[in-house]
Amino acid sequence: MRSELTNMGNHRVRAAEIQNAIMWNTLVEHKHPLLKTKMEPFDFDNPPTDPEILFANMSQMMLEKKGVGLSANQVGLPYRMFVMGNEENLIPVFNPRIVDYEGEEYYAEEGCLTYPGLYVKIKRYNVIRARYTTHQGITDTIKFSGMTSRIFQHEYDHLEGIDYLKRATRYHLDKARKEQKKLNRIKKRIDKNKEK
Ligand SMILES: [Zn+2]
Repeated sequence: MRSELTNMGNHRVRAAEIQNAIMWNTLVEHKHPLLKTKMEPFDFDNPPTDPEILFANMSQMMLEKKGVGLSANQVGLPYRMFVMGNEENLIPVFNPRIVDYEGEEYYAEEGCLTYPGLYVKIKRYNVIRARYTTHQGITDTIKFSGMTSRIFQHEYDHLEGIDYLKRATRYHLDKARKEQKKLNRIKKRIDKNKEK
């Protein structure tokens, strides 16, 4: 797979393929069945799609949407993979397993590209140890803490067919919905002013 990147001819084809895939992929709506489905492992021996292209495509989409994590099933792709991070440090995560939870659970606000403007307090573990495979087929166990640990757990849930609202308390969810409405009203007012 790596040698292809030094071959100019193939490289051009790949770039076009990535471009095509980006145009095709949009976020599915929150009621989409793929978001309620546990994703089956990505088979590296017989890949259903090129993992490198998938990673590149998903990363670009996540950055465009100003997200810090995006799972394949959020964009309608039935693969057990997600990307997380930022422009400087993009992490490809295929077939993740959380092997250990450490430290305390604590509440922090989470957003989700599937639910724009809905920020809900969710309880998560501070530290996890996770085993996963990269787009190049390398498997390792990595320790995450703080924000990255939280993002990992949020995206991992997507692959299990669970979204963050399922983990929210009634109280926190109601509060978040009210805030979302307020935000939407402000947004509308700003848009109206722009039209003038
Ligand atoms: Zn999400």
